Amino acid sequence: MCENPQCPTTDDLTPLTFVATSDLTAVTKGRALPSANLGEKDTTGWVPANLGIGTGGHIAEKIPFGSTGDLRLRPDRAASYPLRGVPGKPDTTIVFADVITTTGEPWGCCPRTFLRDTVAALQEEFGVTVKASFEHEFMDRDATDTHHPFSWRSYRAAEPLGSRVVTAMQASGLEPENWLPEYGLHQYEVTMKPTDPVAAADRAIVVRDLVRDVFASAGRRASFTPMLIPGESGNGVHVHFSLSDAQGRNVFFDDSRPGRLSEFGGRFAGGILERARSLAALFAPLSASYLRLRPHQWASAGIFLGLHNREALLRLCPTVEIDGRDPEPQLHFEFRGGDVGANPWLLLGVVLRAGLEGLRQQTEPARVREGEVDLTDGADGIPEFPHSLEEALQLFEADEEVRGWFDPDLVETFLRIKREELAEVSSLSDTETCEWYARVY
Ligand code: GLU
Ligand code: MG
Repeated sequence: MCENPQCPTTDDLTPLTFVATSDLTAVTKGRALPSANLGEKDTTGWVPANLGIGTGGHIAEKIPFGSTGDLRLRPDRAASYPLRGVPGKPDTTIVFADVITTTGEPWGCCPRTFLRDTVAALQEEFGVTVKASFEHEFMDRDATDTHHPFSWRSYRAAEPLGSRVVTAMQASGLEPENWLPEYGLHQYEVTMKPTDPVAAADRAIVVRDLVRDVFASAGRRASFTPMLIPGESGNGVHVHFSLSDAQGRNVFFDDSRPGRLSEFGGRFAGGILERARSLAALFAPLSASYLRLRPHQWASAGIFLGLHNREALLRLCPTVEIDGRDPEPQLHFEFRGGDVGANPWLLLGVVLRAGLEGLRQQTEPARVREGEVDLTDGADGIPEFPHSLEEALQLFEADEEVRGWFDPDLVETFLRIKREELAEVSSLSDTETCEWYARVY
């Protein structure tokens, strides 16, 4: 019996447990075992070449892994999510695993390990603890009602599916915070409470599959794709995060500075902004991602730190001070550039790793831009995002520092997958490209 209080007890067991990882295309993969057979120290088999399975569902050519080689998935028992009550589906537990070698060492290409190592480095080198949460937007592709943003009518149009999603989230420990009809056509959003960063990314993986599952149970398709219809609202994956010291004090807060952002926080933000163009391939990794990162859609549209600004890549979020509430613990960043194509462990991992480099290299604190920013023509010295996935891949490939954060096999596999994906969508119109991705995401 596992001694960790978060581990499932025998009473909690569902018949099967799906031991899961998420790959470079952010598709959840793994295999199921009878839950009763999964002992505390058990691992299950995995194959290196699985990392090379691209968005279209086949192994990319010329990846560094062949038909030989074996790995193990080691379940992290504290990362168990029993999913219950989806109509037509048996109750099943998802447990996230780290990918290890057959002799028990971490596998250099495991995205979950990359995030955990980054979090550990922040703790060891700067004594800070991270808290994070993911917000997801998606669209109900089969809704036919007249959508009205944020309306009761649209809220009700998604029932009983909305209530089912939230209830299942509560039951499996995902700690839902908000469920709302969003601005876009038949668009909804679900948010979760902040938690430990690896758990936050685990939860992001579960929530996507859970939402799709619940909608599918009613014959409806939920899609998180970054752009469903070119020119309409996009679907973002926004990551909120804060850092605190050993005394629990928010190291981003300094009342005396612009935006109340500390020098430490400014350096952290500077590290992210400085590398954002090279990192775009990882946080916005789909061809359709570049139809989203544009002005006038409240998506991130330029590489800047903005006070309360929804077009910023990094948004300094507002604090609520009603009835004298203390702003200090509340101040935090929202990273708004990501989308569903990004593996959540890598998405949060690269944001934190870039911030860590900002601290290590004592980067000049980022400027906090206040008020509206006109981004129509790349205004005011604000760097633009790459304009296409191909440009993003070239920037990533050319950046030795950023590339060097990863095992060379991961880099090569990622580039092979993405270039094949680009070849697959190259002859498609924007509308057809969006449709191609909507089928996967
Ligand atoms: N839909 C916007 C995006 O693509 C975000 C809208 C909002 O929640 O502010 O990121
Ligand atoms: Mg939103």
